[in-house]
Amino acid sequence: MKILVTGGAGFIGSAVVRLAIARGHAVVNLDALTYAACLDNVASVADNQAYAFVQADIRDRAALDRIFAAHQPDAVMHLAAESHVDRSIDGPGTFIETNVNGTFHLLEAARAYWVAQGRPAEFRFHHISTDEVYGTLGETGQFTEDTAYAPNSPYSASKAASDHLVRAWHETYGLPVVLTNCSNNYGPFHFPEKLIPVVILKALARQPIPVYGKGENVRDWLYVEDHADALLKVLQEGQIGRSYNIGGENEARNIDLVRMICAILDEKRPAAAPYADLITFVTDRPGHDLRYAIDPARIRSELGWRPSVTLEQGLEKTVQWYLDNEPWWRALQDRAGVGQRLGKTA
Ligand code: NAD
Repeated sequence: MKILVTGGAGFIGSAVVRLAIARGHAVVNLDALTYAACLDNVASVADNQAYAFVQADIRDRAALDRIFAAHQPDAVMHLAAESHVDRSIDGPGTFIETNVNGTFHLLEAARAYWVAQGRPAEFRFHHISTDEVYGTLGETGQFTEDTAYAPNSPYSASKAASDHLVRAWHETYGLPVVLTNCSNNYGPFHFPEKLIPVVILKALARQPIPVYGKGENVRDWLYVEDHADALLKVLQEGQIGRSYNIGGENEARNIDLVRMICAILDEKRPAAAPYADLITFVTDRPGHDLRYAIDPARIRSELGWRPSVTLEQGLEKTVQWYLDNEPWWRALQDRAGVGQRLGKTA
C-alpha cells in the first residue's frame, strides 16, 4: 500500500511511518514541521526508497491537491494536529485552524482525488483521534464507541469537531473512512512537553517534578509502538464508516505513574536521594478531566488486537530510551514553551 501519513514528523505519526516502512508499505510523510515536529524521529527510514517527505500544511488546499496528484496514495492516515492540551488553553485559535479547518481541507482534497480515481472501494481515509472527545469519567465506567461526545478542553473540542467532519464525509459523500480514538500514548520520541518525558527529564536534571493538582487524575497508558500496530490493523481490516477505541489496558493515577518512573530511574541511574523526593504538587489544569478509561471490546473482538506490553514494561523501555538518546531531547529543549508551565489560567 502507498500511505499518505499526515503529521509523520510528530510523536505517533513517526511511529506509524517507521512501522509502515518496516512492514513493506510505501509512505509519503506530509508534515508542516511545527514546533512539535522532529525529522530525527524518521531518520531511520529517511534513505529508504519507499519513503518520501513533503513539507506542507494541511490548511493549504492547493498544496494538498498537488501532493495527491503527484503521489497517488492508496490510503491516508491523518495524524497531523495541534496536540497539547495546555497550549490549547493559552491559544485555542491554532487548534481550530489545524484540527478543524485543516481536517476539512484534507477531507476535501482526499474526496476530489478519490472521485477522480473513480471512487475505488479499497481507498481509505483513516482519522486518528483521542478518547478525550468523550470528556471525563468518574471513579468507574469505561468509554465505548457509543459514549456521547462531551469534550472539555479546546483541544478535545477541536478533535471532536474533526471526528464529526470525517463521519459526515462518509455518510454524505461515501468517502471510505475509518476512525480511531485512543488513550494517552507514551514511548520513544515523545516530545519533551508531555507528562512522561517531563518527569524523566526533570528527574535527571534534579529539578522539581511538577504533578498537577493532587496527581489523582487517571489515564489509560498506551505504548506508542502498540498504537502504531493497532492503527495499521484498523486501516487494513477495520470496517468502513466504523470507529474503534484503542486503549493500553493500563490505567494509572498520575501520582502512581510518576512514582513508577522515579523507581525505574532509582535503579537505572542511582542518585544520592530517591527521585520521588523531587515530586512537587502544582496548580491544577483548568477543566482537568478526572479519569479516562477505554473499553477495548470492539477492537479486540472484531480485529483480534490487544496491546503487547504492560505499563511496567513500556515505562522501562521508555526510560531507557531517554537515557540512551540525550542528544535527541536536548535539541528540543530550546523550543518555544518547552520546560515552561503553560495553560495554568483560563
Ligand atoms: P504531535 O504534536 O507529536 O505531532 C503532530 C505533528 O503534526 C507534528 O509533526 C506537526 O508538525 C504536524 N502538524 C501540526 N499542524 C500541522 C499542519 N497544519 N499541517 C501539517 N502538519 C501539521 O502529536 P502526536 O502526539 O503524535 O499526536 C498525533 C495524533 O494523534 C493527533 O491527531 C492527536 O490528536 C492524536 N492523539 C494523540 C494522543 C497522545 O497521547 N499523544 C492520544 C490520542 C490521540
